[in-house]
Amino acid sequence: MPTLRPGTILDRKLECRSPDERRAQLGAGLAVTVAHAWKQAPRVRRALEAARIDPRDVRSLKDLARLPITRKEALPALQAEEPPFGGLLGTSPGALARLFMSPGPIYDPQGHDGDFWRFRHALAAAGFRKGDVVLNSASYHLTPLGFMLDAGARALGCAVIPGGVGQTELQLKTAAALGATGYMGTPSFLFQLLTKAREAGIPLRLEVAFVVAEMLPESLRADIEAFGVRCLQGYGTADLGCLTYECTEKGGWHMHPECILEVLDLESGQPAAPGQPGELVATIFEEAYPLLRLATGDIGALAPEASCACGRTAPKVAGLLGRVGDAVKVKGMFVRGGQIEAVLKRFPEAGRFRAVVTREGHVDHLAYEVEVPGPGTGGLAEAIAEALTAEVKVRGEVRLLAKGAIPEGAKKVDDRRVWK
Ligand SMILES: [Zn+2]
Repeated sequence: MPTLRPGTILDRKLECRSPDERRAQLGAGLAVTVAHAWKQAPRVRRALEAARIDPRDVRSLKDLARLPITRKEALPALQAEEPPFGGLLGTSPGALARLFMSPGPIYDPQGHDGDFWRFRHALAAAGFRKGDVVLNSASYHLTPLGFMLDAGARALGCAVIPGGVGQTELQLKTAAALGATGYMGTPSFLFQLLTKAREAGIPLRLEVAFVVAEMLPESLRADIEAFGVRCLQGYGTADLGCLTYECTEKGGWHMHPECILEVLDLESGQPAAPGQPGELVATIFEEAYPLLRLATGDIGALAPEASCACGRTAPKVAGLLGRVGDAVKVKGMFVRGGQIEAVLKRFPEAGRFRAVVTREGHVDHLAYEVEVPGPGTGGLAEAIAEALTAEVKVRGEVRLLAKGAIPEGAKKVDDRRVWK
C-alpha cells in the first residue's frame, strides 16, 4: 500500500473548539440568520409569523426546534409559486454571483463570498493544499457542483482545471499534461481516469481526491487508494453547500463547523439517538440564502463516538442510508419516479414503468422499463430515451416490455445496487 498524503485541519479554532463553544457559536449564528431572513425573505417572515415566533426570541440553539421545517422536495412548488427562489432568498436575484438550475427543477443561488458553499475545510481535511493543481470533473453547466468545488479549492490556494463532465480521454491528457495533483468529482469517474491512465501508460501525478455525489463503497476507495491517491468524501446539497466531510480517520463524516445539522427521527421529528436513522435537516448562516431547517430528504445516523483522533470536535454522521421518498441518486443526479412519470405522460403508448438502477464495475447503470401495447413501434424507445435524458439528466437505456411485465405496485425507481 503506498503512503498517502496526510490531511490538515484548516481552522483549528473553529474545528477543534469545545462542545460548549460550538453550541454557543452555532446559536449566535442562528439568531443573526433568523433576524436577517425575517427582514429579507418574505416566506420566512410569513412562516415565523404563522408559528407566532418573534425573531428577537430566537437567541440560542435551544430555540431551533421551534422553527418551522421546509422540505427540499417542496422547493420546486414554492419556487414556481413565488419565483424565482420561493421567497427564501436573502437578497435580490440581480445581487447574486450566479444562478443555477438543478433537476426538479430547483433553482439555486450563489452569493459573492469567495467560498460560498464552504468546501475548503473538507478539501483541507482530504489533504488538498496551496499549490495543488486540481482537476475538477464536476459539472459547471447549469447545476452548481462544479462551481461549488472550484470555489473551495481556490479558497485553499489551489489552481483548478475546470474539466466538467465527460470527455474522459481529453480530461486525462489535460490532467497529465498540466501535472494535476488533486481530483474533485465522482469516485467512479476518478477510477475510470486512473485505470485508463495505467492502460495507456499516461503518467498521472494525482495524490489527493475529494469525491462527492455518489456512494463510495470501501472496495472502490481501496481500488483508488491502491493508485497512491488519498480519497475522502463529503456530503452537501446544491442549496445548502457542504454539510459534512470525512477526515483521514474515516469512520463517519464530521458535521461542517459553520452550519447546523440535525438528524431527526422520521416518525416523531425529534432528534434521533446516535446510531438511529433520521432525516438530515440543515440550517445555514448564508446571508444571500438563509435557509432555516431545510429537510434534505437524505437519511443518515449520528455516529455513536463523539470524539475523533483527528482533533476535530464536531459530531460525525455515519454515512448516508438512503432517501426519504422515491428519489435515488444515479451517477450523481437524483432520479425521481414523479419526474419519469411526467415525461412518459407525453407518450400515449407508454403504460406502467420503472427505472432500474444497477452497478457494473464501479459504474451506475440506468435502465427504464416501459410497458407498451404492442411490439415496439419505430423509434419509440429512442424518442423516450431522448426525452428522459433531457429531463432526468442521466442517460439511460429504454427497454420496451409487453403489458403485464412490470408487477403492479413495483417501485418506480428500483435501486438494485449492492454496496460493499
Ligand atoms: Zn476526525
